[in-house]
Amino acid sequence: MATARISAEWARRVRWIRRFMERVVISGGCVLWLGVVDKGGYARIKPPRWLGVPRSVGTYGHRLVFWLVNGEVPAGGMYVTHSCGHAACVNPDHLVGGTASKNHWDAILQGTKGAFVLKYPDELIERVRGMYAAGMTVAAIARSVGVSYVYAWKVAHGQIRCGS
Ligand SMILES: [Zn+2]
Repeated sequence: MATARISAEWARRVRWIRRFMERVVISGGCVLWLGVVDKGGYARIKPPRWLGVPRSVGTYGHRLVFWLVNGEVPAGGMYVTHSCGHAACVNPDHLVGGTASKNHWDAILQGTKGAFVLKYPDELIERVRGMYAAGMTVAAIARSVGVSYVYAWKVAHGQIRCGS
């Protein structure tokens, strides 16, 4: 029953892509990851084993998307960089392969190094504030929105503002 196996495999892929799409928001041409990010604002996604992602992709969302679209990721000191400057962006059109030094310079030029990292879009911040104002606990908000407890607390208490 080869056809049944193929359709089960596709169903699994479609489910995975659907879950992925539920965790992003399209903002100003960027596809921003709302799930777990690291300190630098980069999307962290653990790819399921069945996806067959090579080890070199690691757990970075932008590297995963680059691999899904291009079939390979830059290796040997080469990095996947963001042409838009948004670390959390997983729009394949905004991802380019470059060297470590180019990555560093692009980040400085686009202001993603230092205090100006756009981690989440304003819509998310507004949503968290609204939930908090409506009486939801920080833990419930963090779970619902898919961000860390600390991040949700900071947004709810006005330590992270819209446009920052
Ligand atoms: Zn982008």
